[in-house]
Amino acid sequence: MARNGLSIAIVGAGIGGLAAAATLRRVGHDVAVYEQAHAFARIGSGIQQAPNAVKVLRGLGLEQRLGQLAARPDAQMNRVWDTGEVKWNKQMGGPMADDYGAPYFHLHRGDLHMALAEIVPEEIVHRDKKLTGLSQDADSVTLSFEDGGTATADIAIGADGVHSVVREALLGVEKPEFSGRVAYRTTFPASLLGDVPIDDYAKWWGPDRHIVIYYITPEKDEIYFVTSTPEPSFTTESYSAKGDLAELRKAYAGFHPHVQAVLAACPAVNKWALYVRDPLPRWGKGRVTLLGDACHPMTPYMAQGAATSLEDAVVLSRCLDGVGAGDIGRALRRYEDSRRERTARIQTISRLNDMEKIKAETDRTYRYDAWTVPLAPMPVSIDE
Ligand SMILES: Cc1cc2nc3c(=O)[nH]c(=O)nc-3n(C[C@H](O)[C@H](O)[C@H](O)COP(=O)(O)OP(=O)(O)OC[C@H]3O[C@@H](n4cnc5c(N)ncnc54)[C@H](O)[C@@H]3O)c2cc1C
Repeated sequence: MARNGLSIAIVGAGIGGLAAAATLRRVGHDVAVYEQAHAFARIGSGIQQAPNAVKVLRGLGLEQRLGQLAARPDAQMNRVWDTGEVKWNKQMGGPMADDYGAPYFHLHRGDLHMALAEIVPEEIVHRDKKLTGLSQDADSVTLSFEDGGTATADIAIGADGVHSVVREALLGVEKPEFSGRVAYRTTFPASLLGDVPIDDYAKWWGPDRHIVIYYITPEKDEIYFVTSTPEPSFTTESYSAKGDLAELRKAYAGFHPHVQAVLAACPAVNKWALYVRDPLPRWGKGRVTLLGDACHPMTPYMAQGAATSLEDAVVLSRCLDGVGAGDIGRALRRYEDSRRERTARIQTISRLNDMEKIKAETDRTYRYDAWTVPLAPMPVSIDE
């Protein structure tokens, strides 16, 4: 399989890690993925895939399949929390989709993850492998796992999320910052809502909180919502952490009746603490680099966390295409140079959650095509 003999260890089988496994195999590398979880859980969550993400999925051969499972909103209604006044009718379907080069998908997160898992051979994804440490020398990188095992590779990619052990091993301990906010989120059958006429996709902007509501199937029979709610005392990130429905409904009590109807109809909700980081000045060293939330965790307010992780996977594979053992460091730095500015910009704007700033950024964000965007020049030399 390997065209040039590079072995690549990816830590983390999330959206970014699996996408990188797929793209790196396509350019002929020998990939192994190490994931701490025993199995993948299908949690009640939707995910937005903006045109820049759908272009990645297209290149991976997944656009058609996921397009059949996805809702495709024509527009996002940005509404004032209590009156419902539309402040920005953001067009994304029809002619805008042509203009951006791809449609906008709203999916079940589990469907996206599963589709990526299916294009990566099962036998290269090693589960119950929690990375605890990593070291490198002039010839290889060695990964150590909680179970006492080790693995050696030419390159290691940390796709291990916001609390990345790989990041810590490379750049030192620096915890991500809790934003003081939580995301309540869930999916539930639209039939529970009855006849309340909701938008296909709406963001309701409150003074210090918001809620985003959308359908996640073409039939519009399943609804998803996600909030950003101030709650400085809750710091748990667990897909199984339950939220208190009464508390949630109280937090949105003054919102428009359509929002309240959605919250009244939903039978259960999960709760997830939102962590952030400032953009990192560097993502890698030697034979090791980072990808996705490990290097650019962001608030979900522009729906670009998974999208930019997918982009990373493509650009990384382009930078490693045809690269031999002697050029690993330069090729990885080229990948980082190609990606840092874009992701830092999205991280920063997303965190502000300012409608005008997000509006001004939409074209640049959606038009990006990771398969064709010019790469940064290959560094002549690297200082490590
Ligand atoms: C509420 C919410 C809504 C969001 N909505 C959107 C959206 O609509 N659109 C969008 O594009 N993005 C969205 N995002 C962002 C998106 O979920 C993330 O950016 C994306 O999942 C990052 O993928 P990743 O692969 O980098 O990291 P992760 O998904 O965090 O995956 C990391 C993987 O590494 C594994 N791992 C961690 N540590 C270790 C270890 N030590 N050893 C081995 N394995 C390890 C984990 O188990 C996990 O499988 C949202 C995020 C949140 C919180």
